[in-house]
Amino acid sequence: MEIKQSESLFKRAMTFIPGGVNSPVRAFFSVGGTPRFIERADGAYLYDQDGNKYIDYISSWGPMILGQNHPVIKEAVIKAAESGLSFGTATKREVEIAELICTSIPHVEMIRMVNSGTEAVMSAIRAARGFTGRDKVIKFEGCYHGHTDAMLVKAGSGMMTSGIPDSRGVPMACAKDTLTAIYNDIDSVEKLFAENPGKIACLIIEPVAANMGLVLPEQGFLEKIREICTKEGAILIFDEVITGFRLAWGGAAQYFHIVPDLVTYGKIIGGGMPVGAYGGRKDIMTCIAPIGSVYQAGTLSGNPIAMAAGLAQLSILKEHPEIYQQLDLIGTRFADGMRKIKEERKAPIIVNQIGSLAGVFFTKEPVIDYVSAKKSDAKEFAKYYHYMLDRGCYFAPSQFEAIFFSAAHKQQDIEDTLRKAADFFE
Ligand SMILES: *Cc1c(COP(=O)(O)O)cnc(C)c1O
Repeated sequence: MEIKQSESLFKRAMTFIPGGVNSPVRAFFSVGGTPRFIERADGAYLYDQDGNKYIDYISSWGPMILGQNHPVIKEAVIKAAESGLSFGTATKREVEIAELICTSIPHVEMIRMVNSGTEAVMSAIRAARGFTGRDKVIKFEGCYHGHTDAMLVKAGSGMMTSGIPDSRGVPMACAKDTLTAIYNDIDSVEKLFAENPGKIACLIIEPVAANMGLVLPEQGFLEKIREICTKEGAILIFDEVITGFRLAWGGAAQYFHIVPDLVTYGKIIGGGMPVGAYGGRKDIMTCIAPIGSVYQAGTLSGNPIAMAAGLAQLSILKEHPEIYQQLDLIGTRFADGMRKIKEERKAPIIVNQIGSLAGVFFTKEPVIDYVSAKKSDAKEFAKYYHYMLDRGCYFAPSQFEAIFFSAAHKQQDIEDTLRKAADFFE
């Protein structure tokens, strides 16, 4: 496969952009080699600057659930653009998208639009703190909630109860109120509550963890978390930036029948444009400015073009619930196929999947949390990664990122991918 254009662009990019990319996950640091510079995309396929075609398993990290370049969304964006790009005033589409969500998702009584998932999480946590008058936040090791200071915290070791920054530039003071629990380990959650009575404002969790590869919640785990938060008067925030409108219209909350107090959305909600949102209980959401004293704002929040794209995508998903069955079939076919390869070819992999999300780990033990995910073999993955990429399958360049299926993926694309994967493990 010839990648001269990508190589040359990457060289130029490295000169002017840190690492040559505007978001670290795009760089090929963990697998080596040159990121492909994508020129255009259509349906289930990406086309790079050298004209190579790939099956797209990144879906822009989630937003493109209907496939790339969807004609209805494209039309909505073009039409909106003709009326102006940004007004900084209230607009009709903001009402329509809020109404669409709040009238069809019971646990979202009110919603506020922002510009990214990071912003949504930051704002939801502030709302929870403002509402409860408490400072501490529980998150889970391996869950990603955007790049705000308080969320870039990893577990403290041993007897430490407060977190340590996971990035330079995050003050210890910001990390000290973030407590880290272990995914699928309810004891670790109970321990943090016991050690900090009356101090925990909220617990935030990816109801399906999709940022350490794909890790599913074990039976009863989310239910127990709901119970504990209710008992302790802590706000339960489901970070549904990936799972919202993906696992089901009502996200993981609907899928698992759990009612969170607040939810955060992003990715799908913008249809490919930069959008995030947070919403939930009315008594919490009315704490937000201008009616409440929790401040949160945004010059471009609810941007007309972004709302047009989001509204178009959400309307299609709402009107066509059969899309979720179709996505589930595609995801299941991929996972079944990979597990068959594992069995028949003794491939040293673990395959996790739910609906249109999957994860393939190069490890032998079940992956249920961050520690088990991290046991995966990075070198083997890198070999597999490049083998697949060279044969036209564009997965995320890390086994700690999820595989995303879209409604544009056809059975044929999956079979094609499985055949290549089987060849690798020959
Ligand atoms: C992507 C992601 C975010 C951050 O969203 P951005 O739009 O990248 O800021 C937050 N939470 C989860 C679960 C995500 O996957």
